[in-house]
Amino acid sequence: MNYDAFFAEKLAQLCAEGRYRVFANLERSAGSFPKAILRHEGESREVTIWCSNDYLGMGQHPSVLAAMHASIDRVGAGAGGTRNISGTCVYHVDLEQELASLHGKEAALLFTSGYVANETTLSTLGKLLPDCVIFSDALNHASMIEGIIHSGAEKHVFRHNDVAHLREMLSKVEPGRAKLIAFESVYSMDGDIGPIKEICDVAAEFGALTYLDEVHAVGMYGPTGAGVAEQLGLADRIDVIEGTLGKAFGLIGGYIAASARLIDVIRSYAPGFIFTTAMCPVVAAGALASVRHLRSSNAEREGQRRVSAETKRRLTDAGIPVMACESHIVPVLVGDPVLTKRITDELLERHSVYVQPINYPTVPRGTERLRLTPSPLHTAEDLDHLVASLVEIWGRLELRKAA
Ligand SMILES: *Cc1c(COP(=O)(O)O)cnc(C)c1O
Repeated sequence: MNYDAFFAEKLAQLCAEGRYRVFANLERSAGSFPKAILRHEGESREVTIWCSNDYLGMGQHPSVLAAMHASIDRVGAGAGGTRNISGTCVYHVDLEQELASLHGKEAALLFTSGYVANETTLSTLGKLLPDCVIFSDALNHASMIEGIIHSGAEKHVFRHNDVAHLREMLSKVEPGRAKLIAFESVYSMDGDIGPIKEICDVAAEFGALTYLDEVHAVGMYGPTGAGVAEQLGLADRIDVIEGTLGKAFGLIGGYIAASARLIDVIRSYAPGFIFTTAMCPVVAAGALASVRHLRSSNAEREGQRRVSAETKRRLTDAGIPVMACESHIVPVLVGDPVLTKRITDELLERHSVYVQPINYPTVPRGTERLRLTPSPLHTAEDLDHLVASLVEIWGRLELRKAA
């Protein structure tokens, strides 16, 4: 086989569909988020980032940076091993206690990313629970889908947020079987929020475990930033809350929070937890500072909500087709991959506004979009400039306006 020709053809396919991915080479400049330096073909210039998942700018927060400087001077760079073999340090232990307390659970467990947390926890639960059936929302994140597939468990996909459909599927499975329902609170690409209470109700009725991905909600919702389940007073009805340290908390890493017994089982059986080097202590120290800060401070959440609402209002008023949603995310529908890429290229080249195009398979074909993520650090001038830039492009390219 000519491997190289095969790989070239696979890439050409993506280019032809307008969804070949090009990474922007960004130098974030500590203290000036959301501004960054973009490097391209030997040149560099300042751009404003409008698509970061560092929703609150915590990746540059002074208390986070100070904690990281202190920890690196204290314990050095790497963890030095897996959690079991010399890699556990005081920062991991403290962070797990903090996360358990944040979510009102008995225990928590760290992973190297939210992706790994989902993949390895779901695949392990699905394998361990005898004759388990997993029910999965149709728009669940790839990391959950992979975990469910790798578990080998019987899987049923219910229509997005459709509790009646979920109920119908649950009612067809023998009552005695182990069941798990996997879903999200904030769905990151549409920005809508799952019917958590209703799903907990059917889970209780049919004796199913509930597994909630709060990746886009931790740090962001609830009085202490524990997520939508906290905001709605439902955290105690969720068996496993999964979160990331890589989005609103501004670093990297993932975790689950649950009962002490469930955490002990995952800690003891999950390959994606066991057979990998522990997170760098400096990351755990930074995350600990970030979580603690956002537990006691509402200023960042309130600021974000204000800028987000203002962004939605201004764009909608200007006829830009913002997809209606209740969360902090601002999706703008384009509906064509080539056009989406053209818009983001022009935003960058003409207006120094950086937004990454969102294409299949991240979203279904025909729903390609821009995904804007306002932060409390975007100024009124940043927003004026974003709106004017989009209006200019929408007019010149004669793009579809909102109805
Ligand atoms: C980003 C994301 C993850 C993965 O989290 P990482 O920490 O980035 O690996 C999991 N679930 C959802 C819904 C996500 O959007």
